[in-house]
Amino acid sequence: MTARLIDGKALSDAVKADVAHRVLALKQQGLVPGLAVVLVGQDPASQVYVRNKASACEKAGLHSSVIRMEADVTEQALLDVVDGLNNDPAVHGILVQLPLPKHMNSSKVIEAIAASKDVDGFHISNAGLLMTGQPLFRPCTPYGIMKMLESENVPLRGAEAVVVGASNIVGKPMAMLLLAAGATVTLCNSKTRDLGAQTRRADVLVVATGKPKMVTGDMIKPGAVVIDVGINRTPDGKLVGDVDFESAKTVADAITPVPGGVGPMTIAMLLVNTLEAAERSAKHTVIEH
Ligand code: NDP
Repeated sequence: MTARLIDGKALSDAVKADVAHRVLALKQQGLVPGLAVVLVGQDPASQVYVRNKASACEKAGLHSSVIRMEADVTEQALLDVVDGLNNDPAVHGILVQLPLPKHMNSSKVIEAIAASKDVDGFHISNAGLLMTGQPLFRPCTPYGIMKMLESENVPLRGAEAVVVGASNIVGKPMAMLLLAAGATVTLCNSKTRDLGAQTRRADVLVVATGKPKMVTGDMIKPGAVVIDVGINRTPDGKLVGDVDFESAKTVADAITPVPGGVGPMTIAMLLVNTLEAAERSAKHTVIEH
């Protein structure tokens, strides 16, 4: 058996086309959705992510601005920039690219972003709203995964879903979204005993650990849907996921490739979140927390 590939690139193109269409409608009302990205320092991976986000915005007709700050800037200077963006009516979404330099408190910076402009969905108010089943912004990576599962018609009601990795930005919100869709969710971390015994129960398996190829075919239930969130660069420069694709594809029914799976969807959902923030502001129903 060879698993069906879930094409995140094609689906992200469709999502972005829909965003572009809705952006046009907003522009006819005189509103241009705007995303502000703040980049502190010179981290090469962050530079690439920020460039890709800005370029995706422009292609879909959103306005994007990148505010670059030196790595040794004070935390207060960054908080002042965030405050300015919170009060700028042309900015509907604010994203502070992580990781921040070590002398800064990332949580404090994220909490300084107005929850109504927190398009990453990392603000504590947005985490709470998600947890209590009334999401304002869903974090982009798990939101994109939900779109993929929906587009593949994967049944979630009553399904066994196992999420490996419990970070605030991927694993935990993923578990909440799957739970809200009616799945029975198991959330695993690095202390989980006998990980394979957990993963082998999964009808839907989501892996986000940052450990290259750690989930192998023998840890997957035959016929499962496998979502590989990992992005790891091997010493020879190749990108690999957290799932061992070669062995997994012989067991799974469907699997996301790396690259070309979850990654493109993450950016597409950032555009969706920014657009929806602008649509809410157009209706004057922005909720401040
Ligand atoms: P974090 O390092 O923040 O979290 C990793 C999680 O995995 C932790 O909960 C950790 O457990 C758990 N974990 C680590 N090792 C094991 C193990 N052996 N068994 C079970 N659980 C384990 O990572 P992120 O969530 O930020 O990212 C995960 C991966 O996803 C990375 O490869 C990252 O590059 C990628 N990523 C991809 C995105 C995309 O758009 N495609 C977006 C964001 C991330 P514990 O809590 O016990 O430490």
